[in-house]
Amino acid sequence: MSRLADPPGEVDAIVLGMGPGGEDVAGRLAEAGMSVVGIDANLLGGECPYWGCIPSKMMVRAAGLLAEAARVTGMAGSATAAPDWRTVARRVAEGTDHWDDAVAVERFRAKGGHFVRGWGVVEGPGRVRVGDTVIEARRALVVATGSTPSVPPVPGLAGTPYWTNREAIECDELPSSLVVLGGGSIGVELGQVFARFGVEVHVVEAGPRLVAAEEPESSEVVRDALVADGVRVRTGAHVSAVEAGGVGFTLRLDEGVVTGERLLVATGRRPDLAAIGAASLGVEVGGRGIPIDGRCRVARGVWALGDVTGIGAFTHLSMYHARIVADDILGREPHEASYHALPRVTFTDPEVGAVGMTEAQARARGVDVAVACTEVASEARGWIHGPGNSGFVKLVADRARGFLVGATTAGPMGGEVLGLVALAVHARVPTAELSRMIYAYPTFHRGVLAALDQLHA
Ligand SMILES: Cc1cc2nc3c(=O)[nH]c(=O)nc-3n(C[C@H](O)[C@H](O)[C@H](O)COP(=O)(O)OP(=O)(O)OC[C@H]3O[C@@H](n4cnc5c(N)ncnc54)[C@H](O)[C@@H]3O)c2cc1C
Repeated sequence: MSRLADPPGEVDAIVLGMGPGGEDVAGRLAEAGMSVVGIDANLLGGECPYWGCIPSKMMVRAAGLLAEAARVTGMAGSATAAPDWRTVARRVAEGTDHWDDAVAVERFRAKGGHFVRGWGVVEGPGRVRVGDTVIEARRALVVATGSTPSVPPVPGLAGTPYWTNREAIECDELPSSLVVLGGGSIGVELGQVFARFGVEVHVVEAGPRLVAAEEPESSEVVRDALVADGVRVRTGAHVSAVEAGGVGFTLRLDEGVVTGERLLVATGRRPDLAAIGAASLGVEVGGRGIPIDGRCRVARGVWALGDVTGIGAFTHLSMYHARIVADDILGREPHEASYHALPRVTFTDPEVGAVGMTEAQARARGVDVAVACTEVASEARGWIHGPGNSGFVKLVADRARGFLVGATTAGPMGGEVLGLVALAVHARVPTAELSRMIYAYPTFHRGVLAALDQLHA
């Protein structure tokens, strides 16, 4: 990691935090001819390419291949797979350029940007301090500082060598056992991966169900899949203390203990607003994120995007914001952000794609809800697929207005099937119109048509 010296003292735009959203907006502004300084304390590219989406999905893909090999019997003869984590670790290291951002830095510089490596603190609109250097922005300050793991205040936990996603992604030697604290997307994805490579995995979740932000049916599908892979799942489990030493970690629960050689804390992520100087922008630093308006504006000349806004922790949201911010700064086709069709995918096997509101959220908002749900296994493609075909398509419609306000597509390639319903929710396509569409046979997305038939029955 090189530190690039001599940042210009005054520029058109400062982008603080060069994760996916920051990198995107900084590159767009530089390409448009603005003088831009991008600042990052760590790697240009942020969490997603080095410790998040990309390496975790490389792991998911590897674990998926093992699961598919196990499904050959009874379908295509027999196959034996010899799991070897070193292959996965090597591929992840290659995929992250061994956690080196030289290529990304060069790409940004080629667009005309100036990269500064260091911790930046906002000192007011248009003003950021990095060490002893103050940089001023004439036109725009974009805060894109992302989020970091939120670690619960469990007695004994602080100071133990627990893993966050970073150590899990950088893991080059498997532990014999792993306790995953937190049953959200990151916890269940990584838990399933490690289990499929032979690690004894426990998932401990305080809430009543896994992937709690999604439909209860999704929680069931994910739980069943984990259990089938040998994962022990404890929901509604309150951890009263953590001890480390000897062979690993001991978690004391209200009922019993759970032990593991390693402990992965995956209990959510949150921005550290105090550490980035958000108070100097008039932002309440105890909040969930920096409040923004429809064009991601915080104050005159200041924008925020991505995880730091607290709206959602997804790379696609950060990059969606980045386009809005760049267009607003450059005075191009202004458009307002809309979150009614925010897609999410949990990349377990089966995948759980979801968009818009869950049934419970829609009811809580007073929507006159109509719901339909069909099983993947009962559709032609699901039956053809055989083992690994669990999942469902659930549609949540606004009965009065006649369009979908939410949908879940769980199953093989559930994240891909999601595209169809995400468009429908986004564009508020009438469900009657969706029913008139031709759906290719035999595809997983025909489950949407079956659910529509149920909705209109
Ligand atoms: C294991 C895992 C898997 C994930 N999988 C997915 C997925 O499949 N799909 C998906 O959409 N999302 C996924 N995510 C979430 C995704 O990685 C984040 O939502 C995304 O990276 C957020 O982008 P961002 O631009 O807001 O900032 P970040 O990627 O968080 O980057 C922020 C950058 O700002 C820098 N920074 C922070 N403060 C300062 C400061 N004061 N000075 C200088 N630099 C600073 C940081 O060093 C960092 O590089 C995953 C996350 C994890 C952890």
